[in-house]
Amino acid sequence: MDEREIQVIGFIGLGTMGRLMVASLQRAGFHLVVYDVVASATELAIKNGAQAASSVKEVGELSDVVVLMLPNTPDVESVIYGDDSLMAAPPSRRLIIDMSTISPGAARQIGTDLLQCGIDFVDAPVSGGPIGAEKACLTIMAGGSEDAFSHALPVLRGMGTTITHVGANGAGQTLKLCNQLICGVNIQAISEAIALGRASGVDLTIMREVLMGGSASSWMLEKLGLAMINGDTSAGFRIDLMLKDLRLVQEMAFDLAVPLPATSLVTTQYLDARSHGEGANGNQALFTVYDRMSNQTQT
Ligand code: NAD
Repeated sequence: MDEREIQVIGFIGLGTMGRLMVASLQRAGFHLVVYDVVASATELAIKNGAQAASSVKEVGELSDVVVLMLPNTPDVESVIYGDDSLMAAPPSRRLIIDMSTISPGAARQIGTDLLQCGIDFVDAPVSGGPIGAEKACLTIMAGGSEDAFSHALPVLRGMGTTITHVGANGAGQTLKLCNQLICGVNIQAISEAIALGRASGVDLTIMREVLMGGSASSWMLEKLGLAMINGDTSAGFRIDLMLKDLRLVQEMAFDLAVPLPATSLVTTQYLDARSHGEGANGNQALFTVYDRMSNQTQT
């Protein structure tokens, strides 16, 4: 047996994405130890054979490596540092993989702090949403040392198909934030095109299908364009989470003195959507901003 063979994966954060990623890892043959602050979040994983842990420390104590899929930077920091933490109880193979989207600077700091305790850290945020998580075909952008990345690879392969080592700690998060910038501005452009098409009276279903066959095609137009046309605001990726990411993009841009005018405008529109009660809805609900501006609603 490879002395670093990983059999038991600890997983913290079984929300929209995490619970589907856990199911993929279970199908890939790993044994899972799961923990979430909302106890009901782990029910399906436990039904499928996962072991429930009652604290973060217990996850570390029972696992070979630990994967995190938490909302934001403070959530990740809260399970890394402190009394009930992975730093206090590292997994046996001394590897932590954070797949949440958090601040690149925080990922670098966590990597440095963990290394001082002899623990490897890989920041490995994902793109592909719940569909990619369910089908284990996520795109994974990994930051960390060569050794840590190759150590993490068998675990990452249980959740994704396009897995790239993009640099040192923080580099995965940097790429993910660039991804979110493109997604946000793309959703804005799709909203504008649908608002314009609607006002002109064209058949929006035909318009989307035709545009999907040309150079304006995108995952966003395919999935979220359809949801906008159907007036479906149900959440895959919530407006609240996109605002969290756009804030991280803006902070990074500010630190690096890079003006991002398109991101600034779309951030304002996301804030407007949230202030009108859309925070828990999916990203396609950005279109409601255009409904208001043009004094129309989808039929
Ligand atoms: P989510 O809010 O649905 O799930 C997060 C889970 O973490 C929840 O079950 C919550 O109870 C749990 N949690 C929070 N703090 C915790 C703590 N201290 N200890 C244990 N559990 C805790 O979020 P999500 O949609 O699954 O997204 C998770 C991360 O992945 C976010 O950073 C998000 O930006 C990113 N992401 C999401 C999507 C998507 O489509 N939803 C896609 C790509 C990336």
